[in-house]
Amino acid sequence: MPPPRPTLRVDLSALAANWHLMKSRFSGSECAAVVKADAYGLGALPIAKRLVEEGCRTFFVATVEEGIALRQSLPDPVIYVLLGPACAEDASALHAHQLTPILNSLHQLGLWRNLAEQHQKRLPAALHLDTGMHRLGFPESETQTLIDDPSQLNAIHLQLVMSHLACPDTPEHPLNARQLERFHSLQAQLPAAPRSLVNSAGILLEPEYHYDLARPGATLYGIHPLPNRPRPLKHIATVTAPIAQIRTIEKGESVGYGGTFVARRHTRLATVPVGYADGYFRALSGIGNAAINGRLVPIAGRVSMDFLTFDISSLPEDSITPGTEVELIGPHCTVDDLAEKADTIGYEILTRLGKRLNRIYD
Ligand SMILES: *Cc1c(COP(=O)(O)O)cnc(C)c1O
Repeated sequence: MPPPRPTLRVDLSALAANWHLMKSRFSGSECAAVVKADAYGLGALPIAKRLVEEGCRTFFVATVEEGIALRQSLPDPVIYVLLGPACAEDASALHAHQLTPILNSLHQLGLWRNLAEQHQKRLPAALHLDTGMHRLGFPESETQTLIDDPSQLNAIHLQLVMSHLACPDTPEHPLNARQLERFHSLQAQLPAAPRSLVNSAGILLEPEYHYDLARPGATLYGIHPLPNRPRPLKHIATVTAPIAQIRTIEKGESVGYGGTFVARRHTRLATVPVGYADGYFRALSGIGNAAINGRLVPIAGRVSMDFLTFDISSLPEDSITPGTEVELIGPHCTVDDLAEKADTIGYEILTRLGKRLNRIYD
């Protein structure tokens, strides 16, 4: 038996089930997978490998470096890089690793075109049109330049025309319909290529939003993009830690930095070796909880860098010893529940999970 350690366990079969579920909800022809930021903190390589086995042929990462790392293990799939090239060196690196840039501006298109001219051949690329999110993508004036002068695209093999919705998690938000209308009109004026508009939440919008290729991320990892809806996704990331120490304190004694938790009665406490350095949000101080043997226990006092303390007075005394496993994120304490308590989103909870956690894939 290995020594008990704080552990992140990633259930790859549940991942596969979530990808197939999103694929089945999508009316277009291809369901890709977004594995940027190390697959939302869960490990891009094992995750992408499993999705390839399930039939996924297209991946999205954010940066050139993420693309290079993924390409080393995955020789075949299409890998799109959301950021596009920032300089000529980026363009060369993208090309050298068979990564497909998503061009976000005439500047990026120029860098890619220069490289294509050097190689005297057309190079594959995608175009990202800004339709109202105003973060990345061709501004409408630059898209108009392409529409007026399509020869600008002569050096590229257009693989995909995409845009990104700002508010798909709020289906009734008027910006959704406005972006759909802009996208529909702009893409029709560009050379024909597969089109992509939706992320996870967008797949749950009406099929007219879907187009050809979907780009889900969050839902693959068990994050529900719409609050207060049925929760059909499987749980894929579980964080557990063994109890390091158990103690009792008396009424009036306090716990942790600042003494913010004061016992109102004889209280049993369990301390676990996970803290904000492991990505456990300090904002959960005094309000978070964990599960032991499936029963919820509240955090007592502040989250510190390396430790968390729970009030376990409600649990039978003889059921818990040092080494008993505490579920910090899992089926009883979901990433969405923790996110809501910490006033953030599940994406941030997962991407912050720290390097100290032992990782197991099964
Ligand atoms: C991150 C991202 C996605 C995936 O979004 P989810 O909400 O995680 O499904 C899709 N497209 C783009 C452009 C993104 O930046």
